[in-house]
Amino acid sequence: MNALKHVDSHMSDLISDLQTLIRQPSVSAKNEGIEECATLVKKLLKKSGIKSEILKLKKGVAPIVFGEIESKQNPTKTLMFYNHYDVQPAEPLDLWDDPPFSGTKKGNKIFGRGATDDKGELITRIKAVEAYLKTTDDVPCNIKFVIEGEEETGSAHIEDYLKKYKKRFSSDGVIWEFGYVDAKNRPIIGLGMKGLLFVELSVTESIRDAHSSLAVLIKNPAWRLIDAVKTLRDSDGNILIKDWYKEVTSFSKKDLEIISKEPFDENVFKKEFGIKSFEGNKRGMDAKKALVGGATCNIAGFVSGYAGDGAKTVLPGSALVKIDFRLIPKMEPKKQVMRLKKHLKSKGFSDVKVKVFHGEAAARTNSSNPFVSQVKDAADNSFGKSILNVSNAGTGPMYPFVDILKAPCISIGSTYMFSRIHSPNEFARVDLLKKTTKCMCLIMQNFGKY
Ligand SMILES: [Zn+2]
Repeated sequence: MNALKHVDSHMSDLISDLQTLIRQPSVSAKNEGIEECATLVKKLLKKSGIKSEILKLKKGVAPIVFGEIESKQNPTKTLMFYNHYDVQPAEPLDLWDDPPFSGTKKGNKIFGRGATDDKGELITRIKAVEAYLKTTDDVPCNIKFVIEGEEETGSAHIEDYLKKYKKRFSSDGVIWEFGYVDAKNRPIIGLGMKGLLFVELSVTESIRDAHSSLAVLIKNPAWRLIDAVKTLRDSDGNILIKDWYKEVTSFSKKDLEIISKEPFDENVFKKEFGIKSFEGNKRGMDAKKALVGGATCNIAGFVSGYAGDGAKTVLPGSALVKIDFRLIPKMEPKKQVMRLKKHLKSKGFSDVKVKVFHGEAAARTNSSNPFVSQVKDAADNSFGKSILNVSNAGTGPMYPFVDILKAPCISIGSTYMFSRIHSPNEFARVDLLKKTTKCMCLIMQNFGKY
């Protein structure tokens, strides 16, 4: 196919455009270079033959770069590429071997903040579309680009954008902003992400800390909070809040087949973390099922009293615990918060205050959706081998896409597992950028055909 040959012969273009992108800092956390980077992305799209527009929701919100091409041969199907042009802060700067926004190339690696996450991923999508435009003057299906600027700070407005531009963004399939490649160079095709509910529970007993001799009279809020938290789950990790799992459905036969094929070396994993056994003594298939579809109630932090050096006999006035619940499909964050509050009340803990920080539902594309086999076929062709994954164990803003656009969403890309994203010396691998660009070409072709 000519488009694939075009990718092979234009890698130096891809690399220099990626370097240009890296050299434009775009740190959303500090609102540094955001508008400038959006303008630069628009310019790069134009250079590749893709017309685009900068969409703004309101003042103070990072713009979205929206690109669009209508296919002449198949204007009935639309594939969306969702990416982001913002990056994490580069700090700590002294741990970088080269300046973080230099885009230095050394052998097979291009270094810089955003080299992989997500500027490297973005450039593969742009160059795949360019390869078709330059060789056929057309694309195999309609293409839309939605490139946001707030992903690294939590995509606070992506849902509002999707709602406001629902019609313009409407698509039949979405390729997610990243996709991992494992240590054996196999891309992991992710069909979903878990949701997240982050809460803080707190108890205040007295207006100040007291001498601990007074523990005979003054109740200790840390004990109170421990008692409350202990009612949330059993010692195997099962959540005991009434109706917590009510809407959850079990894995399909196809899901189970995919899970059983997914490589997971328990012993290597345990060694990596220096642990002897898993939660609830899970093994084999149960451990794998938990990774893709297990809900959690995790204590992220517990703060009360004195935890410094040596001894201090203090009776704390208050205690707080931060808890993150990973949510699985059909768990609705708002409903789960209500269930949590009801649970605490019913167990006699009305004095425990609940503060909600963040709620995001899980998203999962049905493994039998034809889009899955189209992507898998493209990945196998381009990388040699690929791995299907029913759901990432982590969380991302995939739900609003699936819910508002009603489109299947799949993550596939060039993010080498150890490419130090979010850390000093982040890099992109040129070989993976090339394979991913070709993979994107093949996805467009497969998607347009069926
Ligand atoms: Zn990131």
